[in-house]
Amino acid sequence: MSKAKYTVTAALPYANGPLHLGHVAGVYLPADIFVRFLRMNNHDVAFICGSDEHGAAITLRAKKEGISPQEIVDKYNEQIGKSFRDFDISFDIFHRTSSPIHHETAQDFFKVLHAKGKLTEETSEQYYDEEYSQFLADRYITGECPKCQNPSAYGDQCEKCGSDLSPTELINPTSTLSGKTPILRETSHWYLPMNRHEDWLREWIKEGKLDGVQQHDPKLWRNQVNGQCMSWIDGGLHSRAMTRDLDWGVKVPLPNSEGKVLYVWLDAPIGYISATKQWALDNNKDWKDYWTGDRKLIHFIGKDNIVFHAIIFPILLRDHGDLILPDNVPAYEFLNLEGDKFSTSRNWAVWLHEYMESYPEKSDELKYVLTSIAPESKDSEFTWKEFQTRINSELADILGNFVNRAMVLTQKYYQGIVPEKGELTEEDQRVLKEMNAIPDRIAKLVYAYKLRDAQAEAMNLARLGNKYLAETEPWKLVKTDVERVKTIMNIALQITANLSIVLQPFLPATAKKLSEFLNFNTTDWTNAGGDDLLKPGQMTSIPSILFTKIEDELVAFEVAKLTKTDENVSAFEPQKEVINFEDFGKMDIRLGTILSAEKVEKADKLVKLLVDTGIDKRTIVSGIAEHYSPEEIVGKTVSVLMNLAPRKIKGIESQGMILMAENEEGKLSFMTPEKGFSAGGTIC
Ligand SMILES: [Zn+2]
Repeated sequence: MSKAKYTVTAALPYANGPLHLGHVAGVYLPADIFVRFLRMNNHDVAFICGSDEHGAAITLRAKKEGISPQEIVDKYNEQIGKSFRDFDISFDIFHRTSSPIHHETAQDFFKVLHAKGKLTEETSEQYYDEEYSQFLADRYITGECPKCQNPSAYGDQCEKCGSDLSPTELINPTSTLSGKTPILRETSHWYLPMNRHEDWLREWIKEGKLDGVQQHDPKLWRNQVNGQCMSWIDGGLHSRAMTRDLDWGVKVPLPNSEGKVLYVWLDAPIGYISATKQWALDNNKDWKDYWTGDRKLIHFIGKDNIVFHAIIFPILLRDHGDLILPDNVPAYEFLNLEGDKFSTSRNWAVWLHEYMESYPEKSDELKYVLTSIAPESKDSEFTWKEFQTRINSELADILGNFVNRAMVLTQKYYQGIVPEKGELTEEDQRVLKEMNAIPDRIAKLVYAYKLRDAQAEAMNLARLGNKYLAETEPWKLVKTDVERVKTIMNIALQITANLSIVLQPFLPATAKKLSEFLNFNTTDWTNAGGDDLLKPGQMTSIPSILFTKIEDELVAFEVAKLTKTDENVSAFEPQKEVINFEDFGKMDIRLGTILSAEKVEKADKLVKLLVDTGIDKRTIVSGIAEHYSPEEIVGKTVSVLMNLAPRKIKGIESQGMILMAENEEGKLSFMTPEKGFSAGGTIC
């Protein structure tokens, strides 16, 4: 039987902001693992992504920042693309929907639907801003939510209660352009009559059949995908407008359609096709091979995109004709962060580009943690504490420890040369049998889109090796039974070689290091499970440490860095440029007790302090005279920046700085610890 062929897509990230770990855990990382595995198993596969660069959210953002929509999408296409490269997500192409080839592809697609009579033209009344002379797309209208009374709901959705809305449902609608009340005016648009499609969609989603012919295995679709689709269909599908009155997007390719563009959810999934076209052009291939015939189309997405990928896009593909429908739509639930939802607007997020700037050598560590907690069947949560625990007690203590022992003992006993296996004990045979079974178990799980369990299974091989060495104790046995130790070390090295294969989809950088340690390199999954991958006499290299442990300080630092900001509060200074942990570590901040205080002459704001810092007594000039009188502060314990370069203020040398909190009115307050802390205590 020939190998199944795949076209794998990952949801197009919207080019109006950076990527956070929620996006990564629930779309890009699982898609990447899946594709790396397929490549190792010699499937013909294309891995497609790109940025989604249209829609009203982008024009609104551009208006807010005072730059053009093109500048916005250029900025975020570049930033998102770089994050993916740094994190080593192995797309075949990362394209963009503002490209000419995409506009042409989306317009052609629309023309086919139109010519085949798959769209209907309908006239309706929509909100219009008279001052700006334009119709208002959903996001351009705000008003009170009729369901929860949130005063700033959007025309398409209330972000507070999550209700889908239409602009005319809003109470007291306001145009975000002029701030005035819009009027209703007639406009005509092209609609997709989705109600025509209920019957075949039901059969296709429930049974995996199209016109009675089996297309996919519905048991492999996630429950939440089936559930959401069936509840939409059972609730009755309605016509949905496929065009908008907007000047940013793919122009409607019909006469008399000035000022109209394709709905962003029509044009974005066509972006998968146009990206494939560009990649095919660049690589001398025919894009049609990837969208027709006997090929599995797989869409990795977040759960908020299910309806677009499992109902609307399949309708469009079928209406267009000659194109394959998705074989599976693995949708992920949401990842939360430290007890709350990720939120771009409130800056409650760990940003991928910031993580990669802070920890450029730790991409595999993040991959491991995110896959371990991937929200496959229900929402899950990222915490820095768990990040630390998973890395220290799993990657370092199990995988790192095992590999290090195997490699270092081989250096010590055999100068790095793989020893010969002798007679096998029952335990050896059991371990080899288990090693041999693991790759198939991983494969079954990957093909079923259970990547979290698949990674755990790969780690079980490291556990097996770790346990084997702990139980056989070659470092003791070497004094009494040199021959037996050769067999044990040979087996330990075979396990390491197997790890260099089975870890590749999950931890590609680590797998590469193992290959280098062993001077053994295969990207062919069928080799996995073999018990003589390394030949006796083969030379191995001196290993380096695979994983360093994560210190408590890093956890505390990252948690402290998370700050919720309210979108509407601007009285506080914006966040400063990101620094790394090393920069932070350069600051020596301690507790000091104020021993004496006196006003500085001819300076209204300054007080001269003598401060006991625990290691010395030093003079510090501080600008707090308008907030505290000298008498009331003597004896107070405060925070002191110790290693700020000394400087002369009004002729007095100030040796450090007292740290103060400032509120939005400019009032200052000491930063004083709870009782029980005294001079000399450090702040970390
Ligand atoms: Zn609401």
